[in-house]
Amino acid sequence: MKTSVIAIVASFFALGACQTTLPPPENTTSVYTQKHMISVANPLAAEAGREILRAGGSAIDAAIAAQMVLTLVEPQSSGIGGGAFAMYFDKSSGSVESYDGRETAPRSASPGMFLKADGKSKKFYDAAVGGSSVGVPGLMRMFQLAHKNHGKLAWKELFKPAIDLARKGFVISPRLAGLLAKDRFLKTIPGTKAYFHEADGTAKKAGTVLRNPLLAATLKTLATKGADAFYSGDIAKNIVTAVRSARKNPSGMTLADLTGYRAKTRPPVCMNYRQWKICGMGPPSSGGLTTLQILGIVEQFDLGGFVPFSARPVHLIAEASALAFADRNTYIADPDFIPVPTLGMTNKDYLKIRAGEISRFKAGGKRFPGMPGLSANPDYAPSENEHGLSTTHMSIVDGDGNALSMTSSIENAFGSRLMSGGFMLNNQLTDFSFTPIKNGSPVANRAAPGKRPRSSMSPTLVFDNKGNLVMAIGSPGGSRIIGYVAKTIIAALDWKMDMTAAIDAPNFVNRNGSTDLEKGTGLEDLKPLLEDMGHTVKLFGQVSGLHGIRITKYGLEGGADKRREGVAIGD
Ligand code: GLU
Repeated sequence: MKTSVIAIVASFFALGACQTTLPPPENTTSVYTQKHMISVANPLAAEAGREILRAGGSAIDAAIAAQMVLTLVEPQSSGIGGGAFAMYFDKSSGSVESYDGRETAPRSASPGMFLKADGKSKKFYDAAVGGSSVGVPGLMRMFQLAHKNHGKLAWKELFKPAIDLARKGFVISPRLAGLLAKDRFLKTIPGTKAYFHEADGTAKKAGTVLRNPLLAATLKTLATKGADAFYSGDIAKNIVTAVRSARKNPSGMTLADLTGYRAKTRPPVCMNYRQWKICGMGPPSSGGLTTLQILGIVEQFDLGGFVPFSARPVHLIAEASALAFADRNTYIADPDFIPVPTLGMTNKDYLKIRAGEISRFKAGGKRFPGMPGLSANPDYAPSENEHGLSTTHMSIVDGDGNALSMTSSIENAFGSRLMSGGFMLNNQLTDFSFTPIKNGSPVANRAAPGKRPRSSMSPTLVFDNKGNLVMAIGSPGGSRIIGYVAKTIIAALDWKMDMTAAIDAPNFVNRNGSTDLEKGTGLEDLKPLLEDMGHTVKLFGQVSGLHGIRITKYGLEGGADKRREGVAIGD
């Protein structure tokens, strides 16, 4: 009796003195733990993160360990050759911070870099594959900064699991094998071809053990010498050589571009939503602002009063999404280059006016941007690239109640397809608008030297009205990320679904065009109803990779998206 009282009191304090823990509810597929948790896209990365949490590491410590493993085992999605955005909740001070490790364009970049000689935009893969799409990777500098602020364990300890695994080898997963088999471009680059293919030229299959001694050596250097070793010395020189000597689209990147890279802390964008406070990543990501706009608009409707995922709320959320994307596509770009009306866009009076543009019964068609304070030029058309097969999201809560929500990316699946030092190099610069000028005016998200391309990554933290953490969530999926995250937040908060159910619930999004419903789900039944309301409905697979953790009266509740290969684990 005495022991169990002590155990309950201990877990009460471990979770931050705002919960008592009850046995997990029945009929849930969520994972429940009491001390700490990581939800991430790959079991090996999850194990690495959990080891660090068990050793007393902080959320950022665990994220670094897990991300180094992802660089190896999920090379299609993210890695040290790419960038990331991370939201961090520091329990002791109650502060919310956001970290910008987005790639930057090298000095050789120019607004017309993705135009052909005839002045027309290149096709997506003609621009993405090769050297010139590669942005200066930001991940390592971001980790250096966040670890300096919140790390508890020694930097070099965090690399051990990934180094071991790179040396010993890991088993290629079905998802990785599927993407390898499908990819048309990996084979066109000799080093990449050799790593991912058998001698007979076929892509390595699921179950094959893949060793990566080059990556092991790179990680060893980073572990012992720190992140600086990524931006100068051999690792940096090899990146520069790889992109400059690319047969397709050679880049003008120089060593000075790498040494000059800075990660940044940015003000998080936060807004109240009903009784909660939602905080996301501000520009250069559009993720935070657009998710907040969708929520701020639907707040005008009693979503909780509708049957979840029935036609009426799907209509309202899709309409809110179209309005929010109209603003996004016009106003959001790198704030170091373009003033973004962040406050105006999340102003509740403004969002009420936008909600007033929605009819409960009829779709409003293509939307124009509103007037949140600044005007700019619309620049968006969904690109070929919006398949969302790449990118990764992890959520972590550590033993002290600190939390991290991080989305990390090399952009397209396998990025630029170039490799250096055993890791993939991103193609993040294709997130710039290919067209620098539209209707005679410069486009906000046009490329420029040193600029960060606009992102849709939406790592999010949710709090209650006392500032207690309620949820960490995010997803990959191109610009559909925003829809996936908004859906999950609404399902969890308004429709009181548990973490896993909210994540696995059908995806839908309207990016100011068609209303896209996830194929093979119950939403297909809504097609005729929504079409009657005036929506142009499209059905297709929407492979989110939502990884979330909620803080509940049962303890930490984790969910990992059934659409990918992730898990939520902890103690
Ligand atoms: N590059 C995209 C972004 O930053 C993410 C791509 C994806 O999710 O597949 O918005």
